[in-house]
Amino acid sequence: MADIEIASSDENGGAPVRCRYCGQLNQTRADGGSPRCGRCRLLLTGEPHRKFAELDKHEYVHPSDSRALAALKTIPGIDTALKKLLEVTGESAIRVIFTASAIKVTPHQCPDLHAKLQVACTTLGVDMPELFVQQNPTVNAFTGGVKHPVIVLHSSLIERLTDEEVLAVIAHEVGHIHAEHVLYLTAAHLLEALANVAIAAAPVASLVAQILSGTMRAALLAWARRAELSCDRAALLVTQDAHVIGRTMMKLCGGTFASKIDYEQFLQQARDFQKTYDEKALDRFWADIITSGLSHPFPVWRVSEILKWVESGEYQRLMDGTAESAAA
Ligand SMILES: [Zn+2]
Ligand SMILES: [Zn+2]
Repeated sequence: MADIEIASSDENGGAPVRCRYCGQLNQTRADGGSPRCGRCRLLLTGEPHRKFAELDKHEYVHPSDSRALAALKTIPGIDTALKKLLEVTGESAIRVIFTASAIKVTPHQCPDLHAKLQVACTTLGVDMPELFVQQNPTVNAFTGGVKHPVIVLHSSLIERLTDEEVLAVIAHEVGHIHAEHVLYLTAAHLLEALANVAIAAAPVASLVAQILSGTMRAALLAWARRAELSCDRAALLVTQDAHVIGRTMMKLCGGTFASKIDYEQFLQQARDFQKTYDEKALDRFWADIITSGLSHPFPVWRVSEILKWVESGEYQRLMDGTAESAAA
C-alpha cells in the first residue's frame, strides 16, 4: 500500500488534490494508480466527505441499544454504583496501564492513525480522545474511561486491515464516545474481564459483586452487545461506504486469508442471517450467551444490521441532512 503514498512536493506534474477526509493538499503523480493521502493514507478521490456539525446520537443509535439502555437506567442507583465501581477499580489505572504498556499515538507517532482519529472526531463532532496501539494477539479494539476516554487498538487488528478499514474501527470507537456509552461500556468490559476464570479469583471480583447487583450486571451485559450496533452505524457515517464496514466484519469473522474469502458470499450469509433470526430469537440467544460468559461480537449479525439500516433509507437521509431525530 505504501508504494502509492504521495509526497507533498513532486516533480511528476500531477494536479494537487485536497484529501476529502483530512484536508491535506497532496501533489498527485501524472502516472495514475490509486493515489493515497500522504497524511491519513486514505484514498484520494473527487467525492466530497460529509462532516456532521451537530450530529444528535438519537439520529443513529440502534433502537435495541436505546431500549436496553433505557431499561438499564431504570435500575435504581445504577449510575452511582457504576461510578463508584470505576472509582474503586480506577479510571486513572486505565491510562496508567496503557501509557506504560502501549504506544501512544500522536501527530509524530503513527501519524496516519492520528490523522484517522482526527477524521473520525471531526466527522462526528467529538473531542479527540487519547489513542493507543497495543501489541496483543486478540483481534480487538476498545474504548474505556469515564471523564477522559481512551481508545486502544490491538496490533493484531490493525495489521489485518486496510487504511479504510482501520478508519472504520477507529470511527466505531469514537462512536462509543459520541453516543455517551463510555461509563456503561467500561463497566461492561470490566465484567467481561471478570468472566475470565483467572481474574475472577482476584479481590476485585468480590468487590464488583458487592457494588453491582445481579440485576445490574445482567442489564449491563444485555445492553453492551446492542451498543455495538449503534457504533457500527457511527462508523458508517464516517467511512460513508457500507462495504468498508462489511469487509472489516468479514475479516473479524474469518481472518485474512483473503484469496479464499468471497465478499459477495459473505454478504449473502449476512442476508440469510437476517431472514432466519428475528429479534426475539436473538434475545433468547443473547441471554444464553451472556450467562455462558462469552463476549464475542458476532460480526455476521452486525453486517446484517448495517445492511438493514442502509436499506431502510435512514442512513441516506442522515447523509442528505433530512433525517428526523428519533429522540424520545
Ligand atoms: Zn488525508
Ligand atoms: Zn464497540
